[in-house]
Amino acid sequence: TGGRRCRRLEGETARAVLANADTLLFDCDGVLWRGEAALSGAPAALGRLAAAGKRLCYVTNNSSRTRVAYTEKLRRLGFPPAEPRHVFGSAFCAARYLRQALPPGAAAYVLGSPALAAELEAAGIPHLGPGPAALPGPAPADWAQAPLEPAVRAVLVGFDEHFSYAKLCQALRYLLRGPDCLLVGTNRDHRLPLEGGSAIPGTGCLVKAVETAAEREAFIVGKPSRYIFDCVASEFDIDPARTIMVGDRLDTDILMGNTCGLTTLLTLTGVSTLEEVRGHQESDCPARQSLVPDYYVDSIADLLPALED
Ligand code: PLP
Ligand code: CA
Repeated sequence: TGGRRCRRLEGETARAVLANADTLLFDCDGVLWRGEAALSGAPAALGRLAAAGKRLCYVTNNSSRTRVAYTEKLRRLGFPPAEPRHVFGSAFCAARYLRQALPPGAAAYVLGSPALAAELEAAGIPHLGPGPAALPGPAPADWAQAPLEPAVRAVLVGFDEHFSYAKLCQALRYLLRGPDCLLVGTNRDHRLPLEGGSAIPGTGCLVKAVETAAEREAFIVGKPSRYIFDCVASEFDIDPARTIMVGDRLDTDILMGNTCGLTTLLTLTGVSTLEEVRGHQESDCPARQSLVPDYYVDSIADLLPALED
């Protein structure tokens, strides 16, 4: 599907593209807000879209918040009211995946946040973390004597600020039981940029560590996996031809949108730049072509003029 042009979305084109859409999927960080601050004009733009009758959904790779926590953040930052069912975080979607993939009563060993545990609970998936630090002996080789829970049939890796060698050991031991124990990762983002050019390691680093130890590839729930879009499409009547994916990252948001047949819109308020897009456009590698969005804006506030009557 060569020929995505990455044109600036403005004027009559913007009016026509928005008029043709009934659903917009928004990535969160870098599109709606940065950290705890709404991006200027973003709440107003979403307010207008909601008033125009568009369905707004939120699709984020961040596994460290629940659906409910996202609705609260949206409200706090002045966005139009959202219900939990409009929020597709990788924690919720991972719990949904395990509910479908695991036999009844099977449990998950989880490297992740309290939010990930909460979504598993809401989905009825028994789960355990590393438990209290009761390691059977001082040396890592002793840890291979720690008890294993027989019900565990999956290892789930999300954002875990307390990731450790001991947890990696335990994850490997469950996975060594064989292919009956699933390996699932919430997302592969390997770096989370901070203000001022700094960054922290993302969940992708933790997923890679477990994959390396287990010599297996994880099933990934978050963008660019189409599983996260399938979650949206299973809860709402989605016509891909009338759906716009709005994101700030080419390798997650835009790739997922293009893969799923959506119209893709890059906003330049986050990670990816127009130079990266131009680099992909100039290459004749098909994999790089699928990273090129249909349109771009400097910020989603630029959609406001096209939403005035
Ligand atoms: N994962 C974590 C832990 C994050 O904190 C973030 C952004 O803050 C992300 C992933 C990326 O989220 P999004 O898909 O909303 O850009
Ligand atoms: Ca983002």
